[in-house]
Amino acid sequence: MVIIMEKDASEQQVEHIIERLDEQGFSIHRSTGVDHTLLGVIGDTSRLDIRDMKIMPGVADAYRISAPYKLVSREFNHADTIIKIKDVEIGGNEIVVMAGPCSVESREQTMIIAGHVAKAGAKILRGGAFKPRSSPYSFQGMGEAGLKILREAADKYNMLVITEVMDRDQLDLICEYTDILQVGARNMQNFTLLRNLGKVNKPVFLKRGISATIQEWLMSAEYIVSGGNRNVMMCERGIRTFETYTRNTFDISAIPVIKKLSHLPVLGDPSHATGIRDKVIPMARAAVAAGTDGIMVEVHHDPDHALSDGAQSLYPEQFDQLMDQIRIIAKAIGRKIAERTDS
Ligand code: PEP
Ligand code: MN
Repeated sequence: MVIIMEKDASEQQVEHIIERLDEQGFSIHRSTGVDHTLLGVIGDTSRLDIRDMKIMPGVADAYRISAPYKLVSREFNHADTIIKIKDVEIGGNEIVVMAGPCSVESREQTMIIAGHVAKAGAKILRGGAFKPRSSPYSFQGMGEAGLKILREAADKYNMLVITEVMDRDQLDLICEYTDILQVGARNMQNFTLLRNLGKVNKPVFLKRGISATIQEWLMSAEYIVSGGNRNVMMCERGIRTFETYTRNTFDISAIPVIKKLSHLPVLGDPSHATGIRDKVIPMARAAVAAGTDGIMVEVHHDPDHALSDGAQSLYPEQFDQLMDQIRIIAKAIGRKIAERTDS
């Protein structure tokens, strides 16, 4: 951190700041310029609140030089983190596809969709059993019955399961059935949940909060990793902006930004990002071109009757089309996507 003193700051004010920081175990590098005195604060400044520095008498401004997150940063770990779950690797050369319904609605529905997306090359079956709905009157998910269906469908088609955990009380139960724990956008800053996920022996899929900055999102990942769970993947799922045409605004630039700042895998969710079926394929293509390690897509065989997010769910044939197209893009950038299993 660098503290810039005001032009007319007194020696007493400079000394006072140095003493305060010294008490807290920091060493200070002082340099006196023509107009301003600069104080370089050396040590772990992530625990300092920059506002406390800015309001000290005689201070003109203060800046952080290093990011407040550590373990998730590229500086800490230069090599990409590759998360290996059974025979699937996330964060390696292969771009992994997660697909399935928004919610598990019935055994039949989940089986039909799982069978289709597995054939098309999806390796991970998504589906919500506990749903974070904006309205308390909307369908809230099937709970444990839904988890059982997901597991059965995934096992049948040799897939992994990803499903959302909304509360720490659900963790033990969900861990019995799932391979990956999804933290939804609305829970990205549920710090109690994040701390508990740090103690769990399953990878975590951390969706970006609806209005979260990239730094806040990385700090949430830091909660999980600092708790002891290094297997965290980041998912850009659209953020809230002034635009109302789409459900959210897909921040595609977050993909290369996270890649640069962090060693964690980063994935894109074009379904929640746009909320409109015919916008999902173009945005999935863009995410792959931008360097994503995977995509999560909602698919439904009868979206008109879906209990949640029907409008953004692809028809199975559209999902096949998407897979064909992103395979070509992946190849063009030196990566690959699993082939169809029935061809
Ligand atoms: C979901 O994946 O169905 C979901 C609710 O996602 P998000 O948390 O991104 O809204
Ligand atoms: Mn959904």
